[in-house]
Amino acid sequence: TLDPTAAQITLAERYAAHNYHPLPVVAAEAEGAWVTGVDGRRYLDCLAGYSALNFGHRHPAILAAAREQLDRLTLISRAFHHDQFGAFCAELAGLVAASNPMSSTGSVTGAEASPGVMVLPMNTGAEAVETALKLARKWGYERKGVPDGQATIVVAAGNFHGRTITIVSFSDDPDARDHYGPYTSGFVTVPYGDAGAVADAIDDTTVAVLIEPVQGEAGVIVPPEGYLREVRRTCTERGVLLLADEIQAGLGRTGTTFACDREGVVPDLYILGKALGGGVVPVSAVAGSPDVLSVVRPGQHGSTFGGNPLACAVGRAVVGLLTDGSYQRRAAALGTVLTERLNALLGKGLVGVRTAGLWAGIDVDPALGTGRDICSTLAERGVLAKDTHGSTIRLAPPLVIEQADLEWAVDQLADVLATR
Ligand code: PLP
Repeated sequence: TLDPTAAQITLAERYAAHNYHPLPVVAAEAEGAWVTGVDGRRYLDCLAGYSALNFGHRHPAILAAAREQLDRLTLISRAFHHDQFGAFCAELAGLVAASNPMSSTGSVTGAEASPGVMVLPMNTGAEAVETALKLARKWGYERKGVPDGQATIVVAAGNFHGRTITIVSFSDDPDARDHYGPYTSGFVTVPYGDAGAVADAIDDTTVAVLIEPVQGEAGVIVPPEGYLREVRRTCTERGVLLLADEIQAGLGRTGTTFACDREGVVPDLYILGKALGGGVVPVSAVAGSPDVLSVVRPGQHGSTFGGNPLACAVGRAVVGLLTDGSYQRRAAALGTVLTERLNALLGKGLVGVRTAGLWAGIDVDPALGTGRDICSTLAERGVLAKDTHGSTIRLAPPLVIEQADLEWAVDQLADVLATR
């Protein structure tokens, strides 16, 4: 007879498509930053569901909102209104407006509605990215006057925006892209972090620039200071939309509500997902300029589950957690600790450290093994982390993690690197 961990892994390998290669940990329960396996072993979560769990597992305020909503109404479809929808959109608009220095709301008061921001809720990140691309193209044809069918969108090398055919069409990762053609055209790739290259790529057909303010999947690549500001300036000057994919970087992770806030930049559209669903349900959204969001009229875009009552109730709880700035400040403070501790490992097994708030991409000396080797050993020691590419590991613990726990995780990493 198999132990419960092996039994579950055997079932998954037999019956599920092998589109992931999970580490051999079978989660059964979790709370805050800690996960318990089916074998009773405890693990410190330093991946946080790729930042979908910024507020930790089963945050009490998020669970309370979900439970209350489960007892009232879970789905009605957008064929009708429901009593969480308008409130969610207004509150998310308020959170977005609070990051706009030009906004009339001024301070971080998520409960305040902002007439300067509109919201279009979807479910997954890829759907929100697709929504932003569709909005940008339609805006280009109907507002900017680009000839129909000719719109182009500038994207960055090393991007990760999801898995749909259009999105993988402009990926440069062969694993993500190969053998999924024919591909969607209309995308121009430029190096990430080079604002001049963005400016050079823009022509009369360009409707938008789509970027991650910090590239997550690529290994937490933080662009040079001033890059976002410069791209924003170029977009404004050339009449091109700036679409910021904040799905992984946004909602507190980098020490500010949005990663664009780090440079005081306001994109035309924020693309949000992951943590917006509180680790409970998939919730994504595009939020930003009403001039852009108003290009879709009834019947031209939608989703059966987008903006459903349960999603909206959970999303409202998440926005509520972000309104007083305490999680953002916590991410910044713990991020300083994490950065110092990781930098001390440079030359002691690490050859690269990049951080933004409570988020780190670390490059392990390839002589010590692959990122996966290191993550397997970390898991055996009770730390959950995941390699991205080759010898790069991403650390993204929930923002609720205790400092002592965070430091314990770095101790484990230091030990693993020292003993290989
Ligand atoms: N955009 C970014 C920056 C992401 O990191 C991800 C997921 O990792 C996505 C989009 C896609 O989100 P989803 O997996 O929910 O479709």
